[in-house]
Amino acid sequence: MKPFNYTRAEGLEQAAKDASQDGALAIAGGTNLLDLMKLQVETPSQLIDVNPLPLGQIEDDRDGLRIGALASNTATASHARVRADYPVLAKAILAGATQQLRNKATTAGNLCQRTRCYYFTNIDQPCNKRDPGSGCGAIDGIAKLHAVLGTSSQCIATYPGDMAVAMAALDAQVEIVGDDGGKRTVPVRSFHRLPGETPQYDNVLEPGEIITGVTLPAPVGGTQLYRKVRERSSYAFALCSVAAIVDIADNRITRADLTFGGLAHKPWHDPRLSELLTGQAPSLELFDEAADLLLENARGYGENDFKIPLARRALTATLCEATGVQP
Ligand SMILES: Cc1cc2nc3c(=O)[nH]c(=O)nc-3n(C[C@H](O)[C@H](O)[C@H](O)COP(=O)(O)OP(=O)(O)OC[C@H]3O[C@@H](n4cnc5c(N)ncnc54)[C@H](O)[C@@H]3O)c2cc1C
Ligand code: SF4
Repeated sequence: MKPFNYTRAEGLEQAAKDASQDGALAIAGGTNLLDLMKLQVETPSQLIDVNPLPLGQIEDDRDGLRIGALASNTATASHARVRADYPVLAKAILAGATQQLRNKATTAGNLCQRTRCYYFTNIDQPCNKRDPGSGCGAIDGIAKLHAVLGTSSQCIATYPGDMAVAMAALDAQVEIVGDDGGKRTVPVRSFHRLPGETPQYDNVLEPGEIITGVTLPAPVGGTQLYRKVRERSSYAFALCSVAAIVDIADNRITRADLTFGGLAHKPWHDPRLSELLTGQAPSLELFDEAADLLLENARGYGENDFKIPLARRALTATLCEATGVQP
């Protein structure tokens, strides 16, 4: 690990100012950042420990819920209102990592966790995300975990998190404060970026911006499911995951919000699926049409070709479970 300076944040604005300095990074639970520092993938010269900031609360926000940036994943998943009103979020968080990790992992840190691409985490390998312009080892290499949607010639990494996939299905909003004290709100659906020509940027945070919390809308009801397909039944990242909020009345789908993990550089939300499904009677043929739409531009890179049929099956299985259609 390279030497670094360490500061405990004394106030939000000062923390943001400190974090805007070249080479500075915020640290929360440390479960992602410290691992990457040990591997010398991340080499900050300055760590701003945001833990002293009063950002750990989970509280009512108008009709919805506000989850502080420092609320642990355990606190969020076990919160009575999250379990009652936003079960897709509790299920997604509980499908991630382990109890010990979830005890330390925070809302903001989880949103900002970096890709698990093995070339990214090995500093002897080329990686445009870690070292722009050095190339991408994964495109012609080992790509089992990699993306099939929204890829670019620069990077095919996936965003590995579970929590944000459910937050995107719920259309949650990320609250951000800048080093000038200015506030902005970004939908989780637009918080993470596609790799394009600049894969080094995972999300829309500018230097010095600190996440202060995430707000959930008023409860949306419906059947809420999180299906995570992975190589082991626990302690593994998603090969493909589906967060689904589905409602039915008089045998017609009245709501279908679907977001996918493990398929792209960001939680993948295609609004056309909701448009296609809403108002229709649930059936296997309809779900097949939805899968065609989701995957019409999907592209495999050899080892991860299996993700395309896997995503189709995960989508169908989730919609069958939500609607009672027999698979
Ligand atoms: C073995 C293992 C298995 C795992 N499995 C899963 C899994 O299955 N699913 C899953 O979703 N996750 C999984 N994780 C990831 C884990 O959930 C993340 O490491 C954790 O959520 C990161 O949160 P943290 O608070 O520790 O972040 P940190 O490590 O402290 O920070 C992560 C990033 O967030 C930034 N950051 C932190 N707080 C702020 C803030 N307030 N504002 C701006 N930026 C901020 C940091 O600068 C850093 O870039 C796993 C991790 C490990 C080690
Ligand atoms: S897929 Fe992205 S993160 Fe992985 S090696 Fe290529 S550029 Fe790096």
